[in-house]
Amino acid sequence: MVTVANSTRPKRPASTHSCPGDCGQQVPRQHLACRSCWYLLPQELREELTRLYGRDRIAHLGAVGDCLIWFRENVKDGELVAG
Ligand SMILES: [Zn+2]
Repeated sequence: MVTVANSTRPKRPASTHSCPGDCGQQVPRQHLACRSCWYLLPQELREELTRLYGRDRIAHLGAVGDCLIWFRENVKDGELVAG
């Protein structure tokens, strides 16, 4: 009987997620994006997120959704795409 070596266990709990900027980085759960992608976001979106964080959970989730959509439409491989 073959036993599989117990070496594939993840080292960390799933407290990170892929950066929505498509740059391949893992970012902490409490952050929306990695540092460089975060600064690609329009200032008003960043301010909105920061303003709502810890104040209005539902509105904050909505703002996160807006940012994710923005990333999907405007960022590829961690860089802004024109048009
Ligand atoms: Zn990123």
